[in-house]
Amino acid sequence: MTKKILIIEDDNKIVNFMTMALKAKGYSIISARNGNDGILYFCTEMPDIILLDLGLPDMDGVNIINQVRDVSQIPIIIVSAREQESDKILALDAGANDYVTKPFSMGELLARIRVMERLIEREVVYPHDNVFKLDYLTVDREKHRVYVDDNEVHLTPIEFKLLLLLIANRGKVITHSQISKEVWGYGETGDSKSIRVFMASLRRKIEKDTSNPRFILTEIGVGYRFADE
Ligand code: CA
Repeated sequence: MTKKILIIEDDNKIVNFMTMALKAKGYSIISARNGNDGILYFCTEMPDIILLDLGLPDMDGVNIINQVRDVSQIPIIIVSAREQESDKILALDAGANDYVTKPFSMGELLARIRVMERLIEREVVYPHDNVFKLDYLTVDREKHRVYVDDNEVHLTPIEFKLLLLLIANRGKVITHSQISKEVWGYGETGDSKSIRVFMASLRRKIEKDTSNPRFILTEIGVGYRFADE
């Protein structure tokens, strides 16, 4: 099966170089130029492996590792110019699987990717990595299925995207404009009224008591926060 690799890197030259070389080896490639897009693509594109730069324009790569590790054990290889031992340790402690320092040879990177593929094939990388579970809510990202207790609930594609975005950012406040930008692709002009409509519909499907939500909490005037425990 073709493996899908998500490259999160802001340097166009490196992205183009890696994309060409990896496509030539038969991998399917998605790339993000900043951390927010990287997290969104991780949620919506279901890659098999992530190649991650640590120095991104909008956030530190370690922040991405933390967010991804909250929901998934997908292999993450750091591809970074930072050579200091402490950065390497910080990234590995946060849950990165491996580390390649720039400048690197493509042969070296390919060898590291093959190690990760073998891990996936042996299912040494945790078998339940696509399933998020909290209290009575279960979300299977890969199968696009959501369960409340053991009953499947049907979400529209937008509701599902919204839910994955909230889960990926859980514990943190996510603003109306971030939601509209990441779910609908709009900028600052995002319509918070339509977000409220979608959110209300999502809540009716996953919350047992919508007047006292267990998962999707409202931050008045700002946005929403997904419960982190
Ligand atoms: Ca960079």
